[in-house]
Amino acid sequence: MPAPLVIANWKMNGSLEKNARLLNQLLTKLDTLEYLEVGICPPFPYLPQVSDHLSQSRINLGAQNVSAFEAGAYTGEVSAAMLREFGCRYILLGHSERRLLCQESNDQVTAKFEAVLKAELTPVLCVGETLEHRQRGESESVVSTQVQTVLDRVGIQGFANAVIAYEPVWAIGTGETATPEQAQAVHAQIRRILAGHDAAIANQLHILYGGSVNAANAQTLFSQKDVDGGLVGGASLEANAFLEICKAAHPGTHFDL
Ligand code: PEP
Repeated sequence: MPAPLVIANWKMNGSLEKNARLLNQLLTKLDTLEYLEVGICPPFPYLPQVSDHLSQSRINLGAQNVSAFEAGAYTGEVSAAMLREFGCRYILLGHSERRLLCQESNDQVTAKFEAVLKAELTPVLCVGETLEHRQRGESESVVSTQVQTVLDRVGIQGFANAVIAYEPVWAIGTGETATPEQAQAVHAQIRRILAGHDAAIANQLHILYGGSVNAANAQTLFSQKDVDGGLVGGASLEANAFLEICKAAHPGTHFDL
């Protein structure tokens, strides 16, 4: 199993001043967590600023969205090659806020996944069910379809350098978190789907949990067998909370940050 991974999704938050303050509080401390991968996904305009801050650190840069297209008349869009030029490694895809607010379909998310692979970046495929789905007992089938649609198009090799984030929609930004058992059940199901095609790829794939992860609940979520780290929204904007979450993901707990 590779080192755990924690990715910060800043969403549409920040300013030049706030970003600099947050990064100054985070970076030297994060760099001491040697057996942990960390990514930070700021809004597009701040990519150069954050990239500069990260240049002397082990932390990777990421982006929150990408176009499925390479170039052309797509006003307001940003291509994977452009994100690569600015030093991005991780690209979030299919975040539930984009699926809901921008009506992104599984097919569009799949096309973006392919574009990210083509640019040799790492897609972070976000999947998850709504509260209605869960109440109807459809969590597993919704998540299966979201994973399977991409798998059908890119094949299992497309997951050799990818990340999946299970983010139950009802837990994102709500303060409500999946129980460790609920998270583990869905993570195990995702890994089983992929293992049915290639066990080695399934075993080395990071499957992150996202949805109101905070300093208090991170440890129990990350201790689940198939939870390989987290995708963190709100709590990633607060230095101490994010550091605590990263500490919780790092194997061995005796860190004074
Ligand atoms: C997210 O935006 O991916 C997320 C998990 O947000 P939050 O941690 O605020 O629920």
